[in-house]
Amino acid sequence: LVQRTADAALRTRAASVIPGGMYGHMNAAGLPEAYPQFMTRGEGSRVWDADGNEYLDFMCGWGPIVLGRKDPVVEAAVRAQLELGDLLDGPSPVMVDLAELLVELVPHADWAMLAKNGTDATTACVSIARASTGRRKVLVATGAYHGAIPWCTPRPGGVLPEDRAHLGYFDYNDVASLEAAVAEAGDDLAGIIVSPVRQELARDQEMATVEFARAIRTVCDRTGAVMILDDVRCGFRLDLGGSWEPLGVQPDLAAWSKAIANGYSLAAITGRDGLRSAASSIYVTGSFWYSAVSMAASMATLTQLRDTDALARMAASGQRLRDGLAAQSAAHGFVTTQTGPVQMPLLRFADDDAGSTLARTWTNEAVKRGVYLHPVHNWFLSAAHTSDDIDLALERTDDAFAELARLARQG
Ligand code: PMP
Repeated sequence: LVQRTADAALRTRAASVIPGGMYGHMNAAGLPEAYPQFMTRGEGSRVWDADGNEYLDFMCGWGPIVLGRKDPVVEAAVRAQLELGDLLDGPSPVMVDLAELLVELVPHADWAMLAKNGTDATTACVSIARASTGRRKVLVATGAYHGAIPWCTPRPGGVLPEDRAHLGYFDYNDVASLEAAVAEAGDDLAGIIVSPVRQELARDQEMATVEFARAIRTVCDRTGAVMILDDVRCGFRLDLGGSWEPLGVQPDLAAWSKAIANGYSLAAITGRDGLRSAASSIYVTGSFWYSAVSMAASMATLTQLRDTDALARMAASGQRLRDGLAAQSAAHGFVTTQTGPVQMPLLRFADDDAGSTLARTWTNEAVKRGVYLHPVHNWFLSAAHTSDDIDLALERTDDAFAELARLARQG
């Protein structure tokens, strides 16, 4: 079923010209053996690897694909902008259109800035908070991911203690630890950055409690610190106005990326009027930050999300998947947890070891059967996942559970 000839050849070539053969979140080296490293194309809810194997895609490019691959409306907008030009000597009018749209969609937003990656956006938010308050300390949740540069990268290589000298830490969903970190920062507290959902590798996801979200808002109001919501991963997948809208808690600044342009490279920072002058005082830019194609893609993505039932359909597919997986795992005698938003699922085995052996074995069997999941990182659905796709995926995951049960009996 699964051929790996082309993939193996590419891995060999990569090993001599790319450090470590691959790097970052798409490095397949740590994944179970059936996972391909290289992929060649995608369409709708499907991706194909370098050997031509087809997969039902439950990673969606690790989040950016929200409408489905090669969405016709987005692709038409991209082609139209490509005809005009992508990177000119000044920003294209679509930049203003998009900033207006973000201000329309996001309740806290009085202005928007555009960048390329989530890390650009979270880092700019931290700088804006410091520039506006004239203070240094920024609080983050222990274990939270906010990007891949020295102030926030999860790996220690190349990072100096000085890079993090003015960070403080609290535990997610723990108001007492938040208060303690705030007290320690004292009158030097510039801001608090938090993600809408606790999403860490090989750990059940945790929805934020209303109490926790409100406590962050209250602390920021009390101290004059800036509340930053890192909506890079969840943004535009759960609620177009921001992922804490259902909790009724609005930040002062938010960082966005991933789903903003259905796979084209774009990030955004939105903020309140009070932070407008601080935002214009910092110097942030990049050679590709003004590329109009991604902005045109974003207009087409966000207007479709606004004007269609795409988000509701994605939630319904996510629920169908969750219900199906829950029934299957129980039928095969496994105790599993499924946590986080249904559009961003994660299944874990209650009895798994520290190395997530059961999850790795099960997802490996799923990959062999053409369902691309991840053993320890949350998955992503898109609006292109139909109920037929979910049912086909479930047929195959049922086989994967059966195989896992068989392997477990063998010991
Ligand atoms: N914040 C969160 C919550 C993220 O999930 C990510 C990316 N996984 C980032 C920030 C960084 O985004 P990027 O990889 O686009 O720089």
